Amino acid sequence: MATSRRRSRAHNLKDSAGSYGRLPSFDINDLRQSLLSWYRQSGRDLPWRQSRDPYAIWVSEIMLQQTQVKTVIPYYQRWLQQFPTIQDLAESDQQQVLKTWQGLGYYARARNLYRAAQQIVQQYGGEFPDQLEAVMALPGIGRTTAGGILSAAFHQPTPILDGNVKRVLTRLAALKVPPSRAIAQLWKLSETILDPDSPRDFNQALMDLGATLCTVHNPNCPNCPWNRPCQAYNLGIQSQLPMTESHPPLPRKSIGVAVIWNGEGQILIDRRPQSGLLGGLWEFPGGKLEPGETIEACIQREIREELGIEIEVGDRLITVDHTYSHFHVTLNVHHCRHISGEPQPIECDEVRWVTLAEIDQYPFPKANLQIIEALRQDASGS
Ligand code: SF4
Repeated sequence: MATSRRRSRAHNLKDSAGSYGRLPSFDINDLRQSLLSWYRQSGRDLPWRQSRDPYAIWVSEIMLQQTQVKTVIPYYQRWLQQFPTIQDLAESDQQQVLKTWQGLGYYARARNLYRAAQQIVQQYGGEFPDQLEAVMALPGIGRTTAGGILSAAFHQPTPILDGNVKRVLTRLAALKVPPSRAIAQLWKLSETILDPDSPRDFNQALMDLGATLCTVHNPNCPNCPWNRPCQAYNLGIQSQLPMTESHPPLPRKSIGVAVIWNGEGQILIDRRPQSGLLGGLWEFPGGKLEPGETIEACIQREIREELGIEIEVGDRLITVDHTYSHFHVTLNVHHCRHISGEPQPIECDEVRWVTLAEIDQYPFPKANLQIIEALRQDASGS
């Protein structure tokens, strides 16, 4: 404890490649206290902050990984009503889990929560573990999520380094390289400045600073508790940091999608394989357009290959554009009529004929929800 309270004069961020940045002289205790006192005045009042239950905190951490706070709040509340304990989650049906997650995106998060809950029940009798290594061994939990859970639920001095924190620390130290090239140094800095007496509040404060003042655009430096030690602000380069990696533009995929009707007014849907993007979710069948192929020919070919049936492709229903993390997709959706053959789950886990009224029971990816909405509008207009 005495070591952490020692005054620090300067902090180099170095690796074998040389010096990446340097904090100005500061009193580490001042740095901690100024942030904590700002947090007491201006910290956000978020539902998971009223809890010390590691399960509730874990759920919030996972939901917040790729989603904004205001979107997460209603999902978080619904999730805990639906699955109040780790045991409840572990014993539920995966389809129910995916349905509750529907609309939040990045569904691997929900599948991992579910698998991890089962692991916790089997290995720890349903009690969330409180050791860093054990937490990081659970599916879907990396070092920063583990640090967030252990500091918030168990008051352990475990550092965090999510996107907001990376930005704050990069500016604090005026790092002249993209954060991805100084990860070890940023972890070291997060660990060094963490207040061992108030790890829970300190980590929450750091996240709030990044979310509310040290924002991507127009950081509010005049009101920031760290504007004295902040290197980027003192150099007037806060808006130029963090430096960004250059990324090639995202590829675009064009997909032909079939809404296949049978004679009983039912629609054919299929469940995607567990592994891979959107695993375990239901969708309207279809596939990627080949070079030189028309949408109609693509749909006919894909349905034959994927489900082993013959269809007639009819009118266009809707075109949906959607962006995933690694590509853009355009779904060209057509009404189709089933002609012959029994649908087979050749490239999916399961197929089912459902009515439009029944379709809400199944978890679908976001882009497919627009198709369902268009079908409803079609039905109400006819
Ligand atoms: S002074 Fe500005 S750039 Fe520096 S940490 Fe505060 S908000 Fe971020």
